[in-house]
Amino acid sequence: MYPVPSAPEIPGSVSLPCRDETDDLWFSESPAELEQAKILCTSCPVRRACLTGALERREFAGVWGGEILDRGAVIARKRPRGRPSKADLARDAEIAAARQAAGVA
Ligand code: SF4
Repeated sequence: MYPVPSAPEIPGSVSLPCRDETDDLWFSESPAELEQAKILCTSCPVRRACLTGALERREFAGVWGGEILDRGAVIARKRPRGRPSKADLARDAEIAAARQAAGVA
């Protein structure tokens, strides 16, 4: 299942990275694959509409508009299974602070 932007004005003929890729990176359990999906979203012509729609629908999971959503909210990155390392926690804090400073939090 691939994400579909909610903007009704986007015809199905528009090329979207999540429609063109054969791998379902956008709903992967792998943090590395989700990061790959985020990168692919950067070239998407409907990125903003996709993210707006996903936030309005409070999508439970997946990459939408170049962001990872978890229970309807944007998260900086998906953690791998298991206890996070101190380095991971420190990096998450840095990312959260940078996002907040940029007004993206
Ligand atoms: S922004 Fe990403 S998830 Fe949304 S339509 Fe474009 S490629 Fe798909």
